[in-house]
Amino acid sequence: MTGQIDAPPGGPTVAGAAAHRLTGGDSIRRMGLIERYIDRLPFELGDPIVSLNEGSTPLILAPRLSERVGAEVHLKYEGLNPTGSFKDRGMTAAVSAAVRDGAEAVICASTGNTAASLAAYASRAGIRGVVLVPDGKIAAGKLAQALMHGAQVVALRGNFDKALELVRAISEIHPIALVNSVNDFRVEGQKTAAFEILEDLDGRLDALCIPVGNAGNITAYWKGFQESGASPRMLGFQAHGANPLVRGEMVPEPETIASAIRIGNPARWEEAMGAMVGSGGKVDDCTDEEILDAYRFLAREEGVFCEPASATSVAGLLKHGAGDAQRIVCVLTGHGLKDPQTALDESPPVIPCEPTLKALEKVLVG
Ligand SMILES: *Cc1c(COP(=O)(O)O)cnc(C)c1O
Repeated sequence: MTGQIDAPPGGPTVAGAAAHRLTGGDSIRRMGLIERYIDRLPFELGDPIVSLNEGSTPLILAPRLSERVGAEVHLKYEGLNPTGSFKDRGMTAAVSAAVRDGAEAVICASTGNTAASLAAYASRAGIRGVVLVPDGKIAAGKLAQALMHGAQVVALRGNFDKALELVRAISEIHPIALVNSVNDFRVEGQKTAAFEILEDLDGRLDALCIPVGNAGNITAYWKGFQESGASPRMLGFQAHGANPLVRGEMVPEPETIASAIRIGNPARWEEAMGAMVGSGGKVDDCTDEEILDAYRFLAREEGVFCEPASATSVAGLLKHGAGDAQRIVCVLTGHGLKDPQTALDESPPVIPCEPTLKALEKVLVG
């Protein structure tokens, strides 16, 4: 029940793992982010660490997008984290801290990816995981993950904002640790993505484009950049039907195809605005149509499959530009496989074919 598991030879990822990290032979791909950045995180040698070797995701140059924008654009492909979204960065930190504090259960409200991540890390830690999701509004892949990892999945007849209100209240009266992005460990874990980008680009970055839902991630990136002495322009993009930061007021019934950012009252509102204003950036929005255009463009022209919410960073860049920025990173927050239904809906149908050479030829060459 402590989350402590013996480190396999050459692949330490768990309790006290940092003790192994300076042996030289370990590749960053074989360690989690707490181990990689322990000196910049609120953890110490010997703490129990719950990790699935998250982080260290690729930064991929996007040549066609660069050409369209007239600048050097890279994609931070967070879909390659263990459960397929950046939420794993925050979850390794939040669940490790909860285990260190003796928690036996963790809870969150989620539009899907936090639920999938919590479920995986809770099972890894050997503690109970509970997730509250908006009924019927969660992508199939995410629901499958949460259920497979053995979390209790509660479908709330209400939206994300209501779910967050309820988990906040229940964690105050019951011994169950809240690991939503209101939990500061989430931000700590997530800030490491900024460290990785700066390392990959030798510190030179002019602008970061990022989707904004509950606004924890943009807060985390800005913290990571500032702690590194960097100050790229922070360009936050929301979906038009869920754009409280753009409007400057809550959206009571948020609606968008990009379910991961269907949030009307972001928990980290002030901090997100602080990041955008403080960096000389801005917040803006895109329609669902523009988000889906970017979603298809990335898959077809760049070979990178992300979920719809993630494509909002690229949609925003294409629509609003990045001023005179020469070097830009777009954060792709989650993997395309999370939401197979939207992918199928946005694609041409499969081509039926009789099992003969002639029929196949007809299909291929007409
Ligand atoms: C959670 C999530 C977001 C939004 O991040 P916030 O920290 O809530 O602003 C964007 N995209 C995906 C895929 C997510 O899972």
